[in-house]
Amino acid sequence: MLTDRRFITYYRDAEQLKKKTVRTYMRDIALTGLSFISNAKYLDKPRIQFLYIHHIFKDEEKKLDILLKRLSKNHQFISYSDAVDKILSGTIDKPYITFSSDDGFKNNLRAAEVLNEYNAKACFFINPGIVGETDFDTINKYCTETLRFAPVDFLNWAEVTQLQKWGHEIGSHTMKHMNIAKTNEAEIIDDLQQTYRILNERCGGVKHFAFPFGRFSDFSSIGRKAVFDAGFGSCATAERGCHINHYKPLGNAELCIRRDHTVLGWDINHILYFLINNAKNASINNNLFPDSLK
Ligand SMILES: [Zn+2]
Repeated sequence: MLTDRRFITYYRDAEQLKKKTVRTYMRDIALTGLSFISNAKYLDKPRIQFLYIHHIFKDEEKKLDILLKRLSKNHQFISYSDAVDKILSGTIDKPYITFSSDDGFKNNLRAAEVLNEYNAKACFFINPGIVGETDFDTINKYCTETLRFAPVDFLNWAEVTQLQKWGHEIGSHTMKHMNIAKTNEAEIIDDLQQTYRILNERCGGVKHFAFPFGRFSDFSSIGRKAVFDAGFGSCATAERGCHINHYKPLGNAELCIRRDHTVLGWDINHILYFLINNAKNASINNNLFPDSLK
């Protein structure tokens, strides 16, 4: 934990708090090699690619602009709801990208401003239990213990409303970043019903859900059922992959949204490598939950 009681505003400072391991260095070297030999023509493939971030620190703002400029060459940016509708109805006719962001850090406002310049609409998955919190110790504890991240300032409700005024969507990420795989059924149902109600009372029109931590192992079939029973119309993971037309129209509860975690502090060629790889390996199986979550 930090002792100087300040929120992190630079990515390099957040990184300093994490120890760079030999594995991280090896991964960077491997990705540089792979991105050098990957073929960018795959980016022209009709598909929907979901990208999601957590933060845009001061030293990442330019990177988002560069990334959007690069992606706009091959892709049309569409809203999260339009992306979900296109997969469900099997009407993916060209390369599309949609953006989202998890955890509701205050610097997401800046991300929205950059996205606005490209008329790109995102969905911000927030936790109502931390929105508007200003006490440093509470935030430091939440960031360190729950998010396993440096202490970062959070959005308040007025700022959430501002995102909506700009045309972005708000989604649920549970009340306080619950690990659904480790929570009992009654608590999961209660939490999801609560966030659905609170977010719809505060924001209106909230229909998307992204489960915290995002790997299949962080979710459960009980959780999946509770998401749709609570009223949500989509459920997103943080498993990499993109979406192509299914062989039949899909029901909302069948669709397993895959999103690629993107850190703007990364080398842009590494980010593109993941997207090229997804396009190359696109499969209709990506549209469905694994058997363990059905
Ligand atoms: Zn999260």
